[in-house]
Amino acid sequence: MAKQRMLQFVNVERDMPDKRPPDLRAHDFNEIYAEYATEKAAEQAGRCSQCGVPYCQSHCPLHNNIPDWLRMTAEGRLQEAYELAQATNTFPEICGRICPQDRLCEGNCVIEQSGHGTVTIGSVEKYITDTAWENGWVKPAAPSQERPERVGIIGAGPGGLAAADMLRRQGVQVTVYDRYDRAGGLLTYGIPGFKLEKDVVMKRIDQLEQGGVTFKMNCNVGEDITFAELQKTHHAILIATGVYKSRELPAPGVGAQGIVRAIDFLTASNRKSFGDSVPEFDSGELNAEGKRVVVIGGGDTAMDCLRTSIRQGATSVKCLYRRDKANMPGSQREVANAEEEGVEFVWLSAPKGFAGDSVEGVMVSKMRLGAPDASGRQSPEIIEGADYVEDADLVIMALGFEPEALPTLWDVPELEVTRWGTVKADFQTHETSLPGVYACGDIQRGASLVVWAIRDGREAAEAIMDQINAEAQVAAE
Ligand SMILES: Cc1cc2nc3c(=O)[nH]c(=O)nc-3n(C[C@H](O)[C@H](O)[C@H](O)COP(=O)(O)OP(=O)(O)OC[C@H]3O[C@@H](n4cnc5c(N)ncnc54)[C@H](O)[C@@H]3O)c2cc1C
Ligand code: SF4
Repeated sequence: MAKQRMLQFVNVERDMPDKRPPDLRAHDFNEIYAEYATEKAAEQAGRCSQCGVPYCQSHCPLHNNIPDWLRMTAEGRLQEAYELAQATNTFPEICGRICPQDRLCEGNCVIEQSGHGTVTIGSVEKYITDTAWENGWVKPAAPSQERPERVGIIGAGPGGLAAADMLRRQGVQVTVYDRYDRAGGLLTYGIPGFKLEKDVVMKRIDQLEQGGVTFKMNCNVGEDITFAELQKTHHAILIATGVYKSRELPAPGVGAQGIVRAIDFLTASNRKSFGDSVPEFDSGELNAEGKRVVVIGGGDTAMDCLRTSIRQGATSVKCLYRRDKANMPGSQREVANAEEEGVEFVWLSAPKGFAGDSVEGVMVSKMRLGAPDASGRQSPEIIEGADYVEDADLVIMALGFEPEALPTLWDVPELEVTRWGTVKADFQTHETSLPGVYACGDIQRGASLVVWAIRDGREAAEAIMDQINAEAQVAAE
């Protein structure tokens, strides 16, 4: 890559973070970053005005002490910056890569709001922690004493892992149960590798193992082991199972070959990147190469499917969304990335059915935005007589996720759920309707973000420690 091109990126990222040149892709970022890291991180960190009203910090779900670690980075005190960053965040290098910063810390940077372009907080957080790994500052848990209490965590996603880390550091015996073969949850099998490199996730899991966390993989709770058995053998249980039931579209022809679910498509792609044998990918069923791809949905999962399809060599990639760009639920930064990479957004378009036994096209109704509904959002209305067919060989449904029915699947009817099916739990302690059973992450709050799962996992670990300390105290009296 030419030096000129790298410099161009550096300046663009600093001055216009949302306007990368179209020929630069996300995976170029690390390559560029490696060369300019120290100088650029210090330069970016030095742009923080230390404004005294750290909206960035209050809009970070972990309340990271951003101004202080930016100041330390600007002063070259990287190890101290790392210590401070990791004090509030279990996986800072992961959040630095994949938080939607434009909606969180960076979107609320005072410099951004004064029109001068945000301090690239996420990139600096990533840089500090990548440097910490390179220098051996990131250490596995080494509790000063072992405790006898056992905690079982169901789900090895960011929520479960954040809790496992905190509990293990206090000497608790932690076992994480997961139905997949690899830990990481959606970090491993959902989020594409061009946004979050898989070795970054695997390194964390290795370190948790080195610190004494036990992983029981390929263990589907409710099938391979009952919830009741887990309750009997652990002092506390944390449910961190995420949400995996894909929302369906009840439309004619939806069962046709070539119409697939986003999670299956992304999992196949991620498995391939691990070198696994994936027959559905090799057969073409879950592979966009050489196809006209239509993705239905407007959230971040849809953006990941679009950008993965481009990388797999689709001949065309379109996104159908029933509202307009201003009303997309996904991050505007992700939309801009997808547009730069060649995705065509077909706004105000809703699928009404599918043509062909093996899909040949999506029957589309054109929409307009009508009067605002009770939530204040304009409702899409069909424009009569404007239907058309969008040609497609592969249709990827990215309409969101819902929780599985855990009380039924696990034969535990006393576990209360909300009307959306998420596990009902206190938002501070994360304790559910069952004493000693906690919940965190997406299964508690519905499909959300990694950073919120980490926060929940850390809070749940604190509450579990309070419980087991109180029990130990009673036993000692
Ligand atoms: C495609 C996609 C892209 C995303 N991109 C981003 C992004 O860029 N940035 C961001 O912040 N967020 C993103 N998210 C959201 C984010 O990944 C989730 O909010 C986060 O992973 C939730 O963490 P969790 O620990 O609650 O659950 P998960 O990460 O879903 O992990 C749950 C784990 O529980 C296991 N499990 C479930 N049921 C059982 C059972 N019965 N027995 C044993 N194990 C079980 C699963 O196998 C899984 O490993 C994305 C989500 C998707 C789907
Ligand atoms: S954790 Fe996310 S929101 Fe918080 S500072 Fe880091 S990138 Fe920003």
